[in-house]
Amino acid sequence: MTKRIEYRTCPLCEATCGLELHLDDDELTLVRGDKEDVFSAGYLCPKGTALKQLDADPNRIRTPQIRRGDTWYDATWDEAFAEIEARLPPIMERDGRDAVGVYMGNPGAHNLANLVYNRVLNQSLGTKNLFSASTVDQMPKQVSSGLMFGAALTVPVADIDRMDYLVIMGANPYASNGSLMTAPDFPGRLERLQARGGTVVVIDPRRSQSAEKADEHLFIRPGTDAHFLFGVVNVLLAEGLVSLGNCEGLVDGLEEIERLAPSFPPEVVAPVCGIDADTIRSMARKLASTDRAGIYGRIGTCTQEFGTVASWLVDVVNILAGNLDREGGMMFTLPATASASIGGGGDGKGRGVRFGRRHSRVKQLPEFFGEYPVATLADEIETPGAGQIKALVTVAGNPVLSTPDSDRLDAAFASLEFMVSIDIYRNETTKHADVILPAPRVLTKGHYDLALYALAVRNVANYSPPIIELRGDEQPEWETMLRLAAIVAGQGSSPEAAAALDDFALVSVVQKAVTRSGSPIEGRDAGELVDELSKNGRRGPERVVDFMLRTGAYGDQFGAPGYEGGLSLAVLEANPHGVDLGALKPRLPEVLKTPSGKIEIAPEAIVADVESRLIPSLDRRANGELVLVGRRDLRSNNSWMHNIEILVKGKPRCTLQIHPDDAIRAGIADGDLARVRSRVGMVELAAEVTDGIMSGVVSIPHGWGHDMKGVDMEVAERYSGVNSNILTDGELMDPLSGNSVLNGIPVTVEALVSAHA
Ligand code: SF4
Repeated sequence: MTKRIEYRTCPLCEATCGLELHLDDDELTLVRGDKEDVFSAGYLCPKGTALKQLDADPNRIRTPQIRRGDTWYDATWDEAFAEIEARLPPIMERDGRDAVGVYMGNPGAHNLANLVYNRVLNQSLGTKNLFSASTVDQMPKQVSSGLMFGAALTVPVADIDRMDYLVIMGANPYASNGSLMTAPDFPGRLERLQARGGTVVVIDPRRSQSAEKADEHLFIRPGTDAHFLFGVVNVLLAEGLVSLGNCEGLVDGLEEIERLAPSFPPEVVAPVCGIDADTIRSMARKLASTDRAGIYGRIGTCTQEFGTVASWLVDVVNILAGNLDREGGMMFTLPATASASIGGGGDGKGRGVRFGRRHSRVKQLPEFFGEYPVATLADEIETPGAGQIKALVTVAGNPVLSTPDSDRLDAAFASLEFMVSIDIYRNETTKHADVILPAPRVLTKGHYDLALYALAVRNVANYSPPIIELRGDEQPEWETMLRLAAIVAGQGSSPEAAAALDDFALVSVVQKAVTRSGSPIEGRDAGELVDELSKNGRRGPERVVDFMLRTGAYGDQFGAPGYEGGLSLAVLEANPHGVDLGALKPRLPEVLKTPSGKIEIAPEAIVADVESRLIPSLDRRANGELVLVGRRDLRSNNSWMHNIEILVKGKPRCTLQIHPDDAIRAGIADGDLARVRSRVGMVELAAEVTDGIMSGVVSIPHGWGHDMKGVDMEVAERYSGVNSNILTDGELMDPLSGNSVLNGIPVTVEALVSAHA
């Protein structure tokens, strides 16, 4: 056996930690944190360690699967693609391209093949029925960022390593390690902030681990973050604390904020959100008076009734308090793959964003960034008529567990004529597929975090090459995606057809770049550049990433004068612990892409929502009704890591957290079996009585419920838990983003069986 050590970036969550992998030949024997990684410096969480068990999981699908009735058969790649070619195009020919729906799951955000080729697959399908996990997650932040700054992922992140006062709303970075903010060892960064005399405040309906470690924790009623934040805005304006700092002269629409804010004095919002008026005032003063401060809001601020307004207000407060685009405040990353013309000092003008260019067939819901709200996917499958979804393609997703009204979606999937899934498990969703195309083992893939480095708290770049060979029965994921794309584009399913699509995609990107005015490669010969990228037989996503790096903000611009020593994939290959490109720097106005070239602080659609829904909700009070919120655990990652015994064993994690006062009212003791009902469903699970949750709120973690027939995940079935999305209501969504309301669902709770009888 040949022992060796390799380094690569962990692909399992948004934190991008560097791993030190010990191998005996191709067998992964040990996973450690890479102490020399320029970003994570040795940090590792339990999920990272479990990469070894994930790699060896006996339930992982290794070869393509074809289903006949309830029986699954191993197939060759050619047989699987022949099955798809025989069944999918005829549906498209008969019923049109919209007869095929697509669902893209969350793991695709850390998967190079998905990031580069999802668009190619979607364009080849030509369907308008695109759905993803974004509308049960971060879509409100994308919408508010798009409207304010001009692009979906122009999201400010906390300059946490230089910050002195950080307010965290609706996030639990001790469990998540950060989201829409790439910060490996987020807990360590928070502790260093506190050690240098800084303060961390957590606002959450639960006393999460992050809240326990914070200097201050404030309970807030679910769904009232926007009310609280507008209270802060009111104080900033009323007390003359507004100072725009680096945003001075770059903010359009401030008078609209001044017009709306008087509706939200602290005394009015306090009884709505549950945080007293003095605390709201002192927080506003502290945010305005601390040089290095900011508010970071995440999942709890998004997956609620006022998701877009709350996401917008996080940035409004940061702007008014002078904390946007300032060292130690909330800043914009300049990733290595941002084009050189972006990093080079533009005027901030762009096309901005537009939504609602088309509407879903059944409920007439608008599209957001090209996709419809996933809460309407079941409607589009169930409802007969032109454009009805008859076939589905899923990529790394499990919507039956992760999207609202699960029982209904499960039944809708069972009614499809044909379904193909790219996945590593036969799970609650892919059990409905007719063909499952497996992704190969993680270590056979190249990895570069195209999306996550764009939200990093330092400018960094790190590429991980494949470190083991594909086995004879494995196929690169990008080739799988392109063979599928070639079938629906009418070009057959051969590897040659996939290669032609790959060439076409690259050539299109290069040709566009050489004609872009002001680009350092303007006027270069596209063919020559493609040849250079393809040296040594390189194909697939690495060629695209190499092109993006070389033409990016730190790139070598293919040898253009003045760019010597710039980045390329070769430079990253020579630096296995990554390349540190420095601390974040102010980027206004060039980071903007709005038509005005300014920050649009009061987008019309958001102002209208404030007037039509938020202001009228100011008379709401807690009324004794229980509401449901979710939660996250460090050892869990949505639904897909529950088949790894070392992550799920031990104390059950899928419990109903309930406050002692509410438990007494319901006659429930710790450990009792409780029944939870919402308008759409009912689940039964063990109660965990704790004062770590505010009275009037109960919590169930999402991603569980692995006891459905037809699933082949032995460990997950043993630790099944219950599916919280049986309770979430597909009718409830944030109208500005189409995002489902997953927090603040009205429920009733009753005792079933006492553990103490
Ligand atoms: S925090 Fe995320 S990236 Fe880091 S080791 Fe854990 S799973 Fe991997």
